[in-house]
Amino acid sequence: MAFAGIIVAILLVLYLTWRIRFRYPPIGTPQALCYHKLSDRFCFEGTWMTRKRFLDQIDQLKNAGYRFVDEDEFLLAISGRAPTNDKRLLLTFDDAYEELFNVYLEHLRPREVPILVFIVSSYVGRENTWDLTGGRRRFKHLSWDQIKAMAKAGARFGSHGATHADLTTLDARSLDVEIARSKTDIESALGVTARSFSYPFGRYDQRVKTAVESAGYEAAFSLYPKHCNEIVDRFALRRNGVYIIDTPRTIRWKLERSPVYWFEEMKCRTINGIAVLTPVIKRVSPGRGSSPGPGT
Ligand SMILES: [Zn+2]
Repeated sequence: MAFAGIIVAILLVLYLTWRIRFRYPPIGTPQALCYHKLSDRFCFEGTWMTRKRFLDQIDQLKNAGYRFVDEDEFLLAISGRAPTNDKRLLLTFDDAYEELFNVYLEHLRPREVPILVFIVSSYVGRENTWDLTGGRRRFKHLSWDQIKAMAKAGARFGSHGATHADLTTLDARSLDVEIARSKTDIESALGVTARSFSYPFGRYDQRVKTAVESAGYEAAFSLYPKHCNEIVDRFALRRNGVYIIDTPRTIRWKLERSPVYWFEEMKCRTINGIAVLTPVIKRVSPGRGSSPGPGT
């Protein structure tokens, strides 16, 4: 009985926190999904998704009337210059892992599903030594050749920094490498403008936001920003993280004004809060990962 009381109290605190601080996103603004690894291999962290489950989620969302829009339409829509439609969705991928190459060309492009992929520019073609793996296997990032082939086929690319560092901890020079140089590296490789930025670990502060805007980006994505969801901040855009525990049903709970919307939101904020421990653990124990050096 006491246990049930504790659960009810926790749920009540979560609900009130959501109701007072976050609330629903505004009607008529497209939402964004954020995936990380698409892998059929088990991963230590919860941000991966098997290829089969992922494709099933995309198909079920399409069947439910969702329309996947590209970066251009999304950025236009958040400026209020496009017709309102609640069922527009932007599909984004952080970290740009190698598995995405086949998934995009063989499955997403034939389904006419556009994607926006955020590259860790110094790790292109390399393994993810920036990440904690709990001593398990590493994952490879897309190479420039793969990125160019995907861009030619219609995929869009933005920056996720140069080394996946927590930008809120960096000095001005390092911040410039992570934000401005990663942009020029991507643009010189692809010959197109990198319009959007994605904050590593979703972490930002006012100084980081200003640096991103000054570097010439038009928008920046977090996951679950600190401000109220009703405010659309172009340099702290909200995305719904999708994790291995998610199903097509829970993804729709994240997107629609269902009775459990608030629970999904607070659940994902909690998962994202755990991911933020990665840079903290790396600071305490730097030998757990290695940096290739900036701008390579
Ligand atoms: Zn990332």
